[in-house]
Amino acid sequence: MLEAYRSKRNFALTPEPVREVRCIGESRFVVQEHDASHLHYDFRLEMDGVLRSWAIPKGPPQKPGIRHLAVQVEDHSVEYIDFEGTIPEGQYGAGTVRIWDYGTYNLEELEPDKLKFILHGMKLRGHYALVRMEKRPQDWLLIKLKES
Ligand code: MN
Repeated sequence: MLEAYRSKRNFALTPEPVREVRCIGESRFVVQEHDASHLHYDFRLEMDGVLRSWAIPKGPPQKPGIRHLAVQVEDHSVEYIDFEGTIPEGQYGAGTVRIWDYGTYNLEELEPDKLKFILHGMKLRGHYALVRMEKRPQDWLLIKLKES
């Protein structure tokens, strides 16, 4: 499942993790601030032995009713969940990565085009949805839902 992830990287040159690791128990999430060619936030959900990943230019919304574009990117190694460091110049995603938020989540709904979950992070808390846009399948919206 990490073929796309591995094919983009030279692990002799980047400090990023290479292994695929299966984890049992609570599902975790992380948001990494990635100061690359353009600053963005990488939102990753631990699922089925990988981190499903989205790049969010504006960062995850923190107020109910707000939705931000989240571009799906390749699944990442579960070991990426605590990765911080500098990806060297010339390597894929060159720039600095630092953890912006982390925690656990409860999955409420899982469909090919829609996920609903509750985040239990340090900054991000409460109900969220990720909804795929119809016309551009790699583009999703991350929505902070109103508490019901
Ligand atoms: Mn990134």
